[in-house]
Amino acid sequence: MKAFVGVDLGGTNLRAGIVDIERGIVLTSDTVPTLAREGPEAVMRRMGDLVKAAIASCRLGVEDIGGVGIGVPGVLDLDKGLTLFLPNLPGTWPNVPLGSTISEKVDLPVFLLNDARSITYGEWMFGAGRGVDTMACFTIGTGIGGGLVINRKLHLGIGGTGGELGHQTIDFNGPVCGCGNRGCLEAFASGPAMAGLGIKAVIQGLTTSIGKLVDYDLNRITPEVICEAARQGDSIAKDIYVQAGTYIGIAVANILTTVGPRKVVIGGGVAAAGDLLLEPLRRTVHERVHVMPIDQTEIVQASLGLNAGLLGSAMWAAHNLDQV
Ligand SMILES: [Zn+2]
Repeated sequence: MKAFVGVDLGGTNLRAGIVDIERGIVLTSDTVPTLAREGPEAVMRRMGDLVKAAIASCRLGVEDIGGVGIGVPGVLDLDKGLTLFLPNLPGTWPNVPLGSTISEKVDLPVFLLNDARSITYGEWMFGAGRGVDTMACFTIGTGIGGGLVINRKLHLGIGGTGGELGHQTIDFNGPVCGCGNRGCLEAFASGPAMAGLGIKAVIQGLTTSIGKLVDYDLNRITPEVICEAARQGDSIAKDIYVQAGTYIGIAVANILTTVGPRKVVIGGGVAAAGDLLLEPLRRTVHERVHVMPIDQTEIVQASLGLNAGLLGSAMWAAHNLDQV
C-alpha cells in the first residue's frame, strides 16, 4: 500500500487523513480546531502534531508514508511552499513558510495546493469527475472556489493561481466582492450571499417560512435553512435557489465556451441542495451556450464530500513525487 497524508487547513478546523492512494480511500481522519487567532506558529505546531497522530493511529511509521499534501484556503507560492494571502485567517499569513515548517516537524516532504484545487483534483481522480480528460469544478460554500483539469493535468497557471472560477465577473456593475473586484460570481451566489437574500425576505415581511424555521433569529439563516424551506414548498426560498443557480449557470456557461470540459462538478455545502440548485443551473447553461456541444458535457454534483480535499491533497503530494 502506498500511503500519503492529506491535510485540510480550514478557517475553523484542521483535518488530516491517511490516504491509500492506489485505492483512493481515506483510511482514517482526525479533526482539531484551527484556533487561527493564535497565529501561524501555533496553528503549524497543531498541524504537525495532528499529522503525527494520524500516522500513529494507522499503526504506521514515518517510513511508511510517501509525503504530505496540504490544502490551503488562499494564494500560495507552490514552488517555495509559502502562503502569500489567506483572506479568511487572521493576519492573512503573508510569506509564511508552511511547507518547510511542517516538513521539518514531521520529517516528510510537504506540498501545498489551494484547497479548491485539492477538491478538484480529488473529484477528478476518484469522484464525480473520474475518467474524463477535461473537467471544471466549482466549490460553493462561504466563498466560491474552483479548479480546472485540462487534458488530464490539473491546471495551475502562475504559481497555482489559475482556476479561480468564483471570481469571474458576472455583472460589471455588481456588488463589491471580498477580493476587491465588482460583481464576481462569489458576490452573488456564495452561502452568505444566499443567506443575505433570505434575511432580506424575512425583514421585508414576504410570505415565507424561512423566519419561522429559525425562530426569527436572523443570524441563523443559512443556505441549509433556505433549502429546508424550499423543500417544504416555500416559493421565496425556491426563488433564492433559482437566482443562485442562474448566476452559477452563467459562470458555468462561460467555462463551457472557454474550456470545453466533459464534466462540470458542483461541490461545497450549498451544492448539497441538489436539483434545487442544479435544475436552474442546467437550464441557464442550455439557454446561453450555442458554440459547443453541450449535450457532451455533464453537469453533476460532487460525490466525495469532505474527503475530496484530503484525497486531492494526498494525491498532489504523490504526483509531485512521481508516485502517480
Ligand atoms: Zn471576487
